[in-house]
Amino acid sequence: MNKYKLLTPGPLTTTDSVKEAMLIDHCTWDDDYKEITTEIRKKLLELAHVSEPEYTSVLMQGSGTFGVESVLTSVIGHGDKVLIIANGAYGERMEEIVIYGNISYTICLFDDDEMIDPNKINEILRADTAITHVAMVHCETTSGILNDIQSISKVAKRRGCTFIVDAMSSFGGIDIDVKELQIDFLISSANKCIQGVPGFSFVICKTNLLMDAKEKARSLSLDLYDQWKVQSRDGKWRFTSPTHVVLAFAQALKELEEEGGVKAREERYRRNQRLLVKNFEEIGFISYLGKERQSPIITSFIYPRNAAFSFQEMYDFIKERGYAIYPGKVTKADTFRIGNIGEIYEEDIIKLTGIMSEYMDKTKERESA
Ligand SMILES: *Cc1c(COP(=O)(O)O)cnc(C)c1O
Repeated sequence: MNKYKLLTPGPLTTTDSVKEAMLIDHCTWDDDYKEITTEIRKKLLELAHVSEPEYTSVLMQGSGTFGVESVLTSVIGHGDKVLIIANGAYGERMEEIVIYGNISYTICLFDDDEMIDPNKINEILRADTAITHVAMVHCETTSGILNDIQSISKVAKRRGCTFIVDAMSSFGGIDIDVKELQIDFLISSANKCIQGVPGFSFVICKTNLLMDAKEKARSLSLDLYDQWKVQSRDGKWRFTSPTHVVLAFAQALKELEEEGGVKAREERYRRNQRLLVKNFEEIGFISYLGKERQSPIITSFIYPRNAAFSFQEMYDFIKERGYAIYPGKVTKADTFRIGNIGEIYEEDIIKLTGIMSEYMDKTKERESA
C-alpha cells in the first residue's frame, strides 16, 4: 500500500514519534498509566487558559461525536431546553443527538456560508425564556467557516444560559481562552489539532456545572459526571480506556509544546491555509467562503467549470502522488475540501499545488480534444 499524507480535518497526518508511542501495551490500573491520564487532563486545562478547581476536564472514549453526545445528554436536565445554532452538518448533528436523547430543544439554522447573527439569537432567547442552554460549533468543518463564539457567548450569558461549544476541529489549532469566552462546556477530540490518533474525545468545563449534572445522564457509558467522578479520583477511566491512543496523545501534547504551543501551531496552520488559497487561486480555483469567514483549518473549493473534471479521478490522481483530500459537504455548491492541519507544512502545499495543476492541465487537454 502506498503511504500518503492526509489533507483532511482529522484523522490527520501525525508524526512518526506519535505513532511510535503506541508500541507499548499498558495496563489500565497501573499507576504510571493513571498518571498519564491525570497529566493529560491538567495540560488540556492549560491549553484552554483555565485551571482547577474552577474548571475541570474529562476524557471520554469514542470519536468526537461521543463527546458531544456525552455533554448534551448529561448536562441538559429534564426541565431544561437547549437552543442549537447550526450553519452546517455538525451543528445539525447536535439536533440528531437531542432527538435521540428526547431532550427539549429549538434550532436556529443559518446557511453554511452565513455568519451567525447574534441579534437573531438574542431575539430567540428573549422570546423563549424556557431555554437554559445554548450550543454551537466553533469551526464548522462542513464548509470551513469560523463562527464567532464571542458574540454568541455574550448573548447567551446575558440571558443566564449555559454555553456549550463544539470546538472539535479548532481546539489546539486556534487559541481559545475558555474563561474569557465564557464557555461552560468545550468539546474536542484526540485526532484533530492536538495531532493525536482517533479514539477519545475530551471535555473542558466549569466544575460547578458538571457537578449539577449528577444523575442527569440519559446514558450509562456517556455519563459525563460519572466519568469525571471516577477519572478525577486517580486517573483511572470507567470501563476500558484506549490505552495506545492515550499514549499517542500524551506524546502529541509534548510535541505541541515543543512547537511553541497553540499560538505557534495556529501560525503554521494560518501560513498553510493562506498559501493554499493563494496557490489554488493562481491555478483557477475559487474558494467557497470569503476570507473574513474562512478558518485556518479547512477550505472548501468550488468545482471548476470544466466538463472533464471529475472529483473521483482527481482524488485518485492526487492519492497516487502522496496526498488524500476530502469531498465537499456544503449543500449549495459542488465543492471539495482541503484540510491543512496535522503534520503538514508549506512544502506539502507547494507539492499539492503542482499535482493539482498537472491534473487540471490534463482535464483541459481532454476538454479541448
Ligand atoms: C470532527 C468533528 C466532529 C466529530 O466527528 P467524529 O467523526 O465523531 O470524530 C464534530 N464536530 C466537528 C466540528 C468536527 O470537525
